[in-house]
Amino acid sequence: MSMAPVKLWDFHGGIHPEQNKLQSTLEPSSPAQLPRKLVLPLHQHIGEAAEPVVEIGETVLKGQKVANANGYVSAPVHAPTSGKIIDISEYPIPHPSGLSALAIVIEPDGRDAWVEYTPDQDYTEKNPSHLRNIIREAGIVGLGGAGFPSFIKLNPGSQKKIKTLILNGVECEPYITCDDMLMREDPQSIIEGLHIMRHALQAEECVIAIEDNKPEAFESISKAAAGLDGVRVALVPTRYPQGSEKQLVQVITGKEVPSNGLALNIGVVCHNVATAAAIYRAIHLGQPLISRMVTITGKGVKRPRNLEVLFGTPIEELLQQCDAEFDQIERLVMGGPMMGFALHDIALPVIKTTNCIIAATREELGLDRPVMPCIRCGACADVCPVKLLPQQLYWHAKAKELDKAQEYDLFDCIECGCCSYVCPSNIPLVQFYRFAKGAIWTQEQEHKKSDQARERHEFRLLRIEREKQEREAKRAKKKAPRPQAASPKAPPVDGATMATKMREEAISQRESAAAARKTEIQAALARVQAKKKGTAPKTDEPPAADSSTSPAQKSDLDKTDASSTDSANNQQVP
Ligand code: SF4
Ligand code: SF4
Repeated sequence: MSMAPVKLWDFHGGIHPEQNKLQSTLEPSSPAQLPRKLVLPLHQHIGEAAEPVVEIGETVLKGQKVANANGYVSAPVHAPTSGKIIDISEYPIPHPSGLSALAIVIEPDGRDAWVEYTPDQDYTEKNPSHLRNIIREAGIVGLGGAGFPSFIKLNPGSQKKIKTLILNGVECEPYITCDDMLMREDPQSIIEGLHIMRHALQAEECVIAIEDNKPEAFESISKAAAGLDGVRVALVPTRYPQGSEKQLVQVITGKEVPSNGLALNIGVVCHNVATAAAIYRAIHLGQPLISRMVTITGKGVKRPRNLEVLFGTPIEELLQQCDAEFDQIERLVMGGPMMGFALHDIALPVIKTTNCIIAATREELGLDRPVMPCIRCGACADVCPVKLLPQQLYWHAKAKELDKAQEYDLFDCIECGCCSYVCPSNIPLVQFYRFAKGAIWTQEQEHKKSDQARERHEFRLLRIEREKQEREAKRAKKKAPRPQAASPKAPPVDGATMATKMREEAISQRESAAAARKTEIQAALARVQAKKKGTAPKTDEPPAADSSTSPAQKSDLDKTDASSTDSANNQQVP
């Protein structure tokens, strides 16, 4: 059954920059040479950096996991070849910040020996969650340049119904041709990946979108998709930035993705064609993501082309393989000329999001064009695909009026660079927007930190106040009068009360003992005196110490008195 062609819609703005694609498609793609060492940054995707699971000195096999995903939005990293781990420390990474980050360094052993893996041929037997798990464990992220973990975009949630799965083969940015070559050379892997994605999403229909400046790719994909139920291939007119997700969704479905919303919210999911091929390899062959197609181009290389590159390969080695004229290269750019960023070191490694390296000469970059004041021509607003007011955004970003920039929807800007491209004053507008976004982000982080510090302080004050109240309550309880013994049940006796009671009993016993001893001594004295006088003593009357009492006897009496008094005063009760 033949299917109706895809009805195409329009989007606002856009430009037609010089393509510069032909030069890198003149020869077929080929595998890049095995490098001397591979530097694998642990942060090659959007989300948290992966965590190493290997140690220095360990040997690894090709495809072996060397770092685990760290959290939900993260992706594991695998060894691109067999070899030895020779370092795990900070290395410069290809990022606009120019910063360094943790990386695992592998010295290849030249055997390129694979780890044992299990192909999973019949994906239709598996439920979507099982497939997503394999895709996650294979470390697959969006290969169109964004690097968002793919399994997340294949999980719309049980409540969301996906009507359309769009495979993005638009590749609208100048110079980049890696998707074009993949579609020409390996359409079957893309179509197999599309089936798996459709099954995972339970999508009603699929559309593969290709710009009309890639007739070979269109033909190749159309052949591979011929006769497939619910799969259509759309040839869309070339216009930049049509490959941007929101613009492509609008062109294919006629629906606008809401501001701050996702395509998912309108029943559409969009994946890159190279991501589909990677998913095919993960599910059917059991192979994780360890390499990708990269366009090496620009006037600084004599043999521009596409190479299948292992992650971690130094860019310098790729340039050598493309006959670079290093003294001619003014700037190295990762990505395209519109949305890419400059690299400051030719030793930087290729990562999962590296789709293109442009070795640009001075003439190519147009660096000699002077920046002039804004003439308020409005050309920037005419081409903005998001219908923003780039000129106002520029003024506010320049004046660091960040609140006002946000009022003009700064964060809806997709940094496509159309405004800068058409600006007759050559103002690098996107750089101002990136600066403003970065400043707002930093401010928010600082606010967040100070909010957390304030919360901690308030919590501490509350705790101190609570402890104070508890102490006062205890003190008040101690001071309260003891309950009367009216109750038939004696109140419970605490430790202090018990000690006082024992002390009183001990004093009383001592006093009794001392009194008894005094009586005995007085009786003995009476007996002595009676003996001397030859009279019997009066039994009831204790004798007093008199002059006849010997010092020893008097001392005995005194000691007895003192002992009874001291005992009463000094007796310690444990
Ligand atoms: S295109 Fe350039 S000169 Fe014209 S209004 Fe925009 S910023 Fe100003
Ligand atoms: S860079 Fe931003 S402001 Fe400029 S055209 Fe693109 S979306 Fe509009």
